[in-house]
Amino acid sequence: MSPQAVTILGSTGSIGKSTLDVIKQHPQRFSVFAITANTQVELLLEQITLFSPRYAVMASTRCAEQLDKNVRELGLETQVLAGADGLATVSSHDAVDVVMAAIVGAAGLLPTLAAAKAGKKILLANKEALVMAGQLFMDTVRDHDAELLPIDSEHNAVFQCIHGSRSDSLSDLGINKITLTASGGPFRQTPIAQLRDVTPEMACAHPNWSMGRKISVDSASMLNKGLELIEACWLFSASPEQVDTVIHPQSIVHALVSYIDGSVLAHLGNPDMRVPIAAAMSWPKRITSGVKSLDLVELAQLDFSKPDLERFPCLQLSMDAMTAGGVATVVLNAANEVAVEAFLQKKIRFTDIPILLEELLGKSVNKNLASIGAVLEQDQLARAAAQQWVFDRSGAGL
Ligand code: NAD
Ligand code: MG
Repeated sequence: MSPQAVTILGSTGSIGKSTLDVIKQHPQRFSVFAITANTQVELLLEQITLFSPRYAVMASTRCAEQLDKNVRELGLETQVLAGADGLATVSSHDAVDVVMAAIVGAAGLLPTLAAAKAGKKILLANKEALVMAGQLFMDTVRDHDAELLPIDSEHNAVFQCIHGSRSDSLSDLGINKITLTASGGPFRQTPIAQLRDVTPEMACAHPNWSMGRKISVDSASMLNKGLELIEACWLFSASPEQVDTVIHPQSIVHALVSYIDGSVLAHLGNPDMRVPIAAAMSWPKRITSGVKSLDLVELAQLDFSKPDLERFPCLQLSMDAMTAGGVATVVLNAANEVAVEAFLQKKIRFTDIPILLEELLGKSVNKNLASIGAVLEQDQLARAAAQQWVFDRSGAGL
């Protein structure tokens, strides 16, 4: 059997690098067809020399020119493409079997949709695509016979617990409830009064997972769990009431599925994204991931508790946005992307993130979004409003 051709959208990121690591362990099963990055020329060039993909794409045209020059100087055969067209080309190319969607944020939506329209097997890490355009995205997957496999560890865990079953409703599968676990991030026990003074470095120092900066801040605010709740509703046809969140500081149990007969199936594993990546890449078979198995005796103890919504207001805001539907989740995502970037640049405080989200969600007029064009328009409007908010706030000093 010839190896499956894989496109990795966002190959220079945390998920992208873990995906390449799994591929490297199984050269007879997978070959790298294309890799992409935003602006990291040097790292993409290094990946080109290691994996000899047919294409490499840079979202930035200026960086693509630089990469192309470097590739030609080294006499490599990889073709360099640029921009949104380049990303769509490598997501939908006839020769591609699998697309790993690992671009962070709204930038991942269009290339991931291109893969869905081309009927590809999509490994979805880019949860923001589902938060922005859940219904349209799921419809596109169904209409074009694409295959969608979740990479987010909790959703991959649920997928494994239900053996990849699909249904229009959770209850058709005899399921009462899905429980997503959350570590609680670096500020699980920080006195609430101190949260206003935490720094980006503190927010990005996640106790269990090594991740990109945006998702690290989202984990610290627990907006990440909110995005995951929305993601779970779309992936598993669940209502927000059917998805529960539990704090589990060890990040060993990733999700649990409760059946009507009282059975509860859980997925356990060490917190390393190569586990869900390998499971999705080989599904329904199994391959090694490079991650060692669990030693329960060494772990000795697993703890669970209810999330504190006063400490983590972003969680409640996400649940409300999912219940409202339509524009609300687009606003939630766009406002959060702007807020996180502003926090990382030290323009606003960590505690400003939920204030900004709440204010923009309160002002948004809800309606259904019938096209991707309408989603992108609302995304732009919400970003502009959020940027104005940041400008006003940071202008007034921290
Ligand atoms: P990261 O910041 O480490 O990497 C992001 C990748 O996207 C990079 O390759 C970057 O070049 C590319 N990129 C950024 N902006 C872009 C743009 N405008 N256009 C094109 N490409 C762009 O992020 P990550 O931690 O790997 O996360 C990627 C996605 O996976 C996110 O949606 C995140 O929520 C999700 N996810 C990550 C983890 C994790 O452990 N890191 C776990 C679950 C889900
Ligand atoms: Mg997750």
